[in-house]
Amino acid sequence: MKLKQLIVAALATLVLAGCNQDCAPQDGAANAIAPQETIKWKLVTSWPKNFPGLGTAPERFADKVAELSGGRLEIKVYGAGELVPALQVFDAVSQGTAEMGHSGAYYWKGKTPAAQFFTSVPFGLTAQEMDGWIQYGGGQELWEEVYAPFNLLPLPGGNTGVQMGGWFNKEINSVDDLKGLKMRIPGLGGEVLARAGGTPVTLPGGELFTSLQTGVIDATEWVGPYNDLAFGLYKAAEYYYYPGWHEPGSMMEFTINKDAFAKLPADLQAIVRVTAAAINDDMLAEYTTRNQSALVELIEKHNVDVRPFPDDVLQKLQLLSDEVVAEVAAADPMSGKVYKSFKAYRDKVKAYHAVTEQAYINARD
Ligand code: CA
Repeated sequence: MKLKQLIVAALATLVLAGCNQDCAPQDGAANAIAPQETIKWKLVTSWPKNFPGLGTAPERFADKVAELSGGRLEIKVYGAGELVPALQVFDAVSQGTAEMGHSGAYYWKGKTPAAQFFTSVPFGLTAQEMDGWIQYGGGQELWEEVYAPFNLLPLPGGNTGVQMGGWFNKEINSVDDLKGLKMRIPGLGGEVLARAGGTPVTLPGGELFTSLQTGVIDATEWVGPYNDLAFGLYKAAEYYYYPGWHEPGSMMEFTINKDAFAKLPADLQAIVRVTAAAINDDMLAEYTTRNQSALVELIEKHNVDVRPFPDDVLQKLQLLSDEVVAEVAAADPMSGKVYKSFKAYRDKVKAYHAVTEQAYINARD
């Protein structure tokens, strides 16, 4: 339903945008219909071609843009490594090798540390809260400011929702059990684990199963039941822990080369923006549905032992997360500016959601 509403909105915007540009009376000129030019764009991604959820989202984006534009904007989607490697998406779009990218902002902390606030922060915002901060809480403006030096316009590009804590071959009964734990966990979550005495390891998705099965690592997180089931991780681990404290609502991103965007007519710009918003919404809806049925399959068909992290473990991880995130904020002025907005939003939405989402979900149980 939401996607349809957005498409209707896109068409309405298209009519308005078309009028802004073309409907003003022109001095002596006949109001001729311009020949319809087909614009061809490349979109590079950090995911294997058509990878479920993450990789199908940019494909759907390209299909919808072609449909809404009547074929005037054709976008060819490239999987990781087809045009550029997975972790060169940011540079490729910044330099104009491709007009668009689909990836995760936290991969670009080496370019600009403040990017880490725009995917997911340990004990940070949920998907719903992230959408609120980005769209109505000042997040989008800050994100554009962070990416402006790179000639990039960022837009939300989907969300996985709260991820799972991960697959473990060791029981986690206390904070001490994290000591010496070798776990594949990227980004800020990995830094938090290190501070708790563990050893974070960074491995690409394709190596998780073998590394876990051969004991190279004791544990790994990936995404959630839908993607984790597809990788067969249940065959290599004893326990499936929750929740994914380290990635409570990972937002994907579309990046657009600003020069390429500026060259688009206003109606195509509107189609790109509104279709990106539709895809952002669509990915969360898909994950919410497919994750819950995959969890049932993991439990009922594969007898997976699903366990909560103990409360004291989560409390300790939260304390350490706040330290790690505050240090990122202190490292450079832009990170500090983003953190101030992010933290103020988190504090307010936490109080609000305590009496709404959280209270309702507790009551429903
Ligand atoms: Ca993850």
